[in-house]
Amino acid sequence: MDLEKKAIERIKLASEMSLQHYGVPLVCTYSGGKDSDVVLELFRRSGVPYEVHNSHTTVDAPQTIYHIRQKFGVLENLGIKATVEKPVYKGQRCSMWTLIPEKKTPPTRMKRYCCSVLKETGCPNRYIATGVRWDESTARKDRTAYEGITAKKKNKIAINDEIILMNDNSEKRRLIEHCRLKSKSAVNPIVDWTHKDIWDYIRSERVLYNPLYDMGYKRVGCIGCPMAGKHRWKEFADFPTYRRAYIRAFGKMLEAIHRAGKPSKWKTGYDVFLWWMEDDNIPGQLSLDDM
Ligand code: SF4
Repeated sequence: MDLEKKAIERIKLASEMSLQHYGVPLVCTYSGGKDSDVVLELFRRSGVPYEVHNSHTTVDAPQTIYHIRQKFGVLENLGIKATVEKPVYKGQRCSMWTLIPEKKTPPTRMKRYCCSVLKETGCPNRYIATGVRWDESTARKDRTAYEGITAKKKNKIAINDEIILMNDNSEKRRLIEHCRLKSKSAVNPIVDWTHKDIWDYIRSERVLYNPLYDMGYKRVGCIGCPMAGKHRWKEFADFPTYRRAYIRAFGKMLEAIHRAGKPSKWKTGYDVFLWWMEDDNIPGQLSLDDM
């Protein structure tokens, strides 16, 4: 079975499960990246009823925001519900810039609190489709085409007790009996696609994609994401407004730390920024535990 056909079969099956167990259409989650665009195109071709959801991270590049608007405009003209969800923290609208002082620590590889507030809160109790692929990272190698996401441990895969076995020629598929889990479930229709498969599909099917890829970006996502490591230097060179916004937020973070009567070895938001960017030339590199 070819990749497109197999991915569409997965979408169709998940759609049936969504309608049967949740009573509402499957949700295509959409970030504005290339994988999202492929999944969205597959949804369009599948013929299933669906909705589209984007979590507004507040740190996406302008190109990504325009691209999402463009795609959602087309969807709305087709009568497909496409929602951009704005983030909320403790009942208030928030952004990366308010979260940093609130949390009194910068987001880091080990402390990705921003993900749970800015990216992962949408679509509770829904069956969603994602663009997760094994090819993206070793951390994703254990992901499966069908997953349950428990309410308590978001991101933790719960392939559990109530399993329906189905075969689609070569692949043994496992589905969760969602109504008993009462939680979010996910299908990853392109989990087995490679980077090359994605680009071959985009080019051969003329899928409109985010212009950031033509600016030398291999991945698109939050500007300044700590997971992007040294690549952030390019991001901040291309988007200096975001660099200034982080420095300002780190300054506010220090004020919040001092207001709470806690010590900090950093003097300014810029000191924090340099530490955060892992600049080896900064004397007295601090661990967050030193604060
Ligand atoms: S900056 Fe990175 S860790 Fe934070 S929300 Fe964005 S993707 Fe998640």
